[in-house]
Amino acid sequence: LARDGHEGLALALQYQPNLVITDLMMAGHDGLQLIRNLRQTEFGRSIYIMVLTILDNEDKLAEAFDVGADDYLTKPVESKALLARLKAGMRMIREQQALRQEQEELRRRLLELSIANQRAQEAALTDVLTGLYNRRHAMQRLAQEWAEAERGHRALCVLALDIDHFKAVNDNHGHDTGDAALRQFAEILRVFSRTPDVPCRFGGEEFLLIAPDTPLEGALNLAERIRLAVQDKPLVAAGVSLPLTVSIGVAEKSAKHANIDQLIKAADEALYHAKQNGRNRTEKARS
Ligand code: GH3
Ligand code: MG
Ligand code: MG
Repeated sequence: LARDGHEGLALALQYQPNLVITDLMMAGHDGLQLIRNLRQTEFGRSIYIMVLTILDNEDKLAEAFDVGADDYLTKPVESKALLARLKAGMRMIREQQALRQEQEELRRRLLELSIANQRAQEAALTDVLTGLYNRRHAMQRLAQEWAEAERGHRALCVLALDIDHFKAVNDNHGHDTGDAALRQFAEILRVFSRTPDVPCRFGGEEFLLIAPDTPLEGALNLAERIRLAVQDKPLVAAGVSLPLTVSIGVAEKSAKHANIDQLIKAADEALYHAKQNGRNRTEKARS
């Protein structure tokens, strides 16, 4: 119970009620002002506001609805009418609360869904064994980097990498050891990649490294660093030390490549030459 609009506002702020009944005519801070003030607050927007008015004051009543009143009672107040309208008000309030809860629940589920969706998207682009990007992501990223390179007239290289005699690792030491070798190799790729580089497992024991903004010289250097790191770090698994080597083909995007497939093909051909020329080598694509 408050004696004027000012006190009413203070009490409303303190108790945050669901329903407010206010007289329109009050000394000082009147009912209209109270409604305006309440409707400006966050919680006040959902309060059910009933105004008390005398019968012949229609202008004032219209104004009250304009500023946000929900219902009115004429003075003198009859208890039956008051109860009936309180009931109607309560029904409104409950419905609004239910609606807000539903909205809240919906928002929460939407958030969960978008998080799950993001995780699924990440999973769809990640290779399970090595944690590197998979082939699908490699193709998407390469297309993006290709477009970037075209736009900015910048260099773009790809490295095709294939572990040498990998079948022998599986055959001689088992598939699990082979898997461990793939993980170790992936780790080396990660360590030697700079931030813009994109190391991917392209399939089996074949990897692709996208090197944006990198001219051929830089990419050949990168390839050699990776090759030497692999050569210098034998795989230690199940008590045995296994030497591993890798062959690498490097291609730089140029006018003769019409699309990303041709660029990958050029790197693959260079890789093939590296294998033919004795493995544990880096070769650049023939221009
Ligand atoms: P090269 O030097 O000519 O590349 O010889 P290679 O034996 O490495 O080549 P090849 O392509 O004949 O063999 C690839 C092997 O990689 C065969 C396959 O068993 C193995 N491999 C492919 N994917 C996986 C994998 O996920 N885990 C394991 N352990 N082995 C794999
Ligand atoms: Mg191989
Ligand atoms: Mg292979």
